Amino acid sequence: MPQRSPRKTVTVVAEAVALLISGAITFQLAEHDVSVAVIISAACSTLATGLYLANRIEEARSTTFYACPAKSCTVSIRARGASPDELRRLRALATVLPDTQNADDGGVHGADVRRQ
Ligand SMILES: [Zn+2]
Repeated sequence: MPQRSPRKTVTVVAEAVALLISGAITFQLAEHDVSVAVIISAACSTLATGLYLANRIEEARSTTFYACPAKSCTVSIRARGASPDELRRLRALATVLPDTQNADDGGVHGADVRRQ
């Protein structure tokens, strides 16, 4: 679990910022002659956008990406929540080079990818 805390901190900070911005906008609108419906909708959409961005940041931070280095090959693997062992296995799957392939596999990455 030691890897978990830095990710969570970033997410919590991003969510707090979203909440603060949403609150500040709500507060400023409330000072003006704006209807409750407009204030609620502004607060909701600001908060929703902020939380969405916080979620995307967390996703990007916790996602490992491996792309095949072979030219004209578009195979790539994105992994979330994988253990170091699983990541090594996925990396091997994604980055197998043509000279190491088994000819019977019919492709650089062979049958292993299709079996997943
Ligand atoms: Zn490839």
